[in-house]
Amino acid sequence: MKIKLDTKVGELPRVGKILSKKLNKLGLFTVRDLLFYYPFRYQDFSTISHIADIQPNTQITIKGQINLIANKRIFRRKMYITECLITDDTGSMKAVWFNQPFITKMLKQGDTAYFSGKVELTAYGIQMVGPTYEKIKKEQTHTARIVPVYSVTENLTAKQIRYLIKLVLPLARDLPDWIPEKIIKHNKLINLAAAIREVHFPTNKNTLSQARHRLKFNELFLIQLNNQNIRHRLKQIKALPIKFNAELTKKFIASLPWPLTANQKEVGWDILKAISFDHPMNRLLEGDVGSGKTVVATLIMLNVVDNGFQAALMAPTEILAQQHFKTISTILEKFHISLALLTRTNKLLNNTSTTPKKITEAIRTGQAQIIIGTHALIQKKITFSRLGFIVIDEQHRFGVDQRKMLKQKSQEKKDNSQAIYPHLLSMTATPIPRSLALTLYGDLDLSIITQMPQGRKKIITKIVSPDKRQAAYDFIRNEIKKGRQAFVICPLIEESDKLGVRAVTVEYKKLSREIFPNLKVDLLHGKLKADKKESVMQKFTHHETNILVATSVVEVGIDVPNASVMMIEGAERFGLAQLHQFRGRVGRAKHQSYCFIFTDSESAKTLARLQALVTAKNGFELAEMDLEFRGPGEVFGLMQSGFPGLKIAKLTDVELIQQTKKAAEYIFANDANLTTYPQIRDKILKNNQNLHLE
Ligand code: ADP
Ligand code: MG
Repeated sequence: MKIKLDTKVGELPRVGKILSKKLNKLGLFTVRDLLFYYPFRYQDFSTISHIADIQPNTQITIKGQINLIANKRIFRRKMYITECLITDDTGSMKAVWFNQPFITKMLKQGDTAYFSGKVELTAYGIQMVGPTYEKIKKEQTHTARIVPVYSVTENLTAKQIRYLIKLVLPLARDLPDWIPEKIIKHNKLINLAAAIREVHFPTNKNTLSQARHRLKFNELFLIQLNNQNIRHRLKQIKALPIKFNAELTKKFIASLPWPLTANQKEVGWDILKAISFDHPMNRLLEGDVGSGKTVVATLIMLNVVDNGFQAALMAPTEILAQQHFKTISTILEKFHISLALLTRTNKLLNNTSTTPKKITEAIRTGQAQIIIGTHALIQKKITFSRLGFIVIDEQHRFGVDQRKMLKQKSQEKKDNSQAIYPHLLSMTATPIPRSLALTLYGDLDLSIITQMPQGRKKIITKIVSPDKRQAAYDFIRNEIKKGRQAFVICPLIEESDKLGVRAVTVEYKKLSREIFPNLKVDLLHGKLKADKKESVMQKFTHHETNILVATSVVEVGIDVPNASVMMIEGAERFGLAQLHQFRGRVGRAKHQSYCFIFTDSESAKTLARLQALVTAKNGFELAEMDLEFRGPGEVFGLMQSGFPGLKIAKLTDVELIQQTKKAAEYIFANDANLTTYPQIRDKILKNNQNLHLE
């Protein structure tokens, strides 16, 4: 049989049904899949040692002749030991294997072979324990070279995978190199076939690094091409141009209780400019927690409404949607705008509770001008009259699909005319380092608020040791005496975690009965009914309660400027970005605020990570640190949510990200329709499902 790239793994020699199934479970179905199944690390067994020089506790390779090999059965321990005596020009040593009696069928007395593995000092002297063995061949696969290590599960052995990949490796030459010659030359890349060969069975460290570079380039280049493609397509899509009303904007800014920061003004101006064109703006607004993004979004919405269009704001939680509704109603009070709130349990039109039918109607007819809501906004039955602008708050909390749905539901299609899309502003307080944002959201324009409103004091952050717990409680009592409020956060291991709910309930009881019996303590967690949640939040906002004991439900957006203490229990359970979000619930006004971090962990690593909260100057710096501690995948949950394509490249390959971005820009500047790049076009089309398309 002739093996091709599309040949099924089950049709390969020595692959039976069982092995084939195991390979499928690893996502390996065809020869092509095998070729792209990269090793996750390597063992350098390329240097051959002399037996006389061998030191214990090292990884080595020797080449020697077998003097003796035999199985021994140890009845007492119910196992086999295979013992082997190996000699080279400098001496001899013993190798042992446990429970692999078949080895005596493969290796015979008199054979010369390579042995790679660990050397241990045992009661019987220096030995190799369980080394990988391989007879001398024209080219070695498992020993005497840089050996690829694949992640194997499903009871597959390292040797099986290596054997298969080696078997199909010659087919690498049939892989079409989809990167144009010019890009390859300019970026000094090696060709794809060579890269695949070298990534699996490297000739040396140098060729390996060239191979990895090339394959990383592939992955990042594809992402950047997709980004460019979206950017280009957006230019062809129509949107409703929003005219900037200077007078109205001035009036709005003057009506605020404080001056806008220079940064807020700049960003507001950028956005107003971008939405004045007749193709959709697609922008990410990043601003540290508490930097005042909401008012910027409101300023834009006001202009949109002034142009006769609707604006919608989607927030990830019921509590947050309600809070936005209140804040925005208040700051727009003088502007006679009709505001709607639409959540699963709450329907308000201009502060009056209404029926689902009436609110749907008000949105459909355009009576509601600014619509604030949760996921409820993307229900099938909701249609807008003339939606010109969408704001997605805390956008990292939404899936790609949810964001896309809101956008698509609002396109207008009259007759056969072209669809018209609204402008989009995504907002996030998860500070994403610029390098990451470039890759992640390269299809979006970026605005960043780096400045905090005036008069904010740095939040004093302390990691509190258990013996200082009482002092922390005393401190809280004192702050409350001064008129402030406090949050106490308890970890919830999972949303649905019953144990976690109990933990927060127990903590609530302890605090309300034993620690602060004279204060008003309340409890908030995700399992409460929506109206209960609302009344708890209301009371805290209106200063009817002093202390709010809560789970991570308060993580995003909650704005209670009078609160000045954030106490976090079990902090080791939270990521840095999340802890930073919690801390951002305080320090939102002029009061000096405090964040007390409690942990039972004694691990140096955990403490060092938490310490970053104390040292980092702002959210961006913290995000960089978090990136170092945990890697991008874990920090932002990216691997699940949007980058399944990254197998070898990392989001920290900053230089390569820049390089591939340039290359992609070059392609689109040259031929935006990709007529001369059919292979790239195919790749992008295939990838289209993964696009943000926001
Ligand atoms: P975030 O960017 O985290 O969403 P918010 O929009 O909730 O922040 O704003 C945080 C707090 O800062 C709010 O109480 C808001 O009223 C206040 N705020 C916003 N802009 C300013 C400003 N320029 N000066 C003073 N306070 C401001
Ligand atoms: Mg916010």
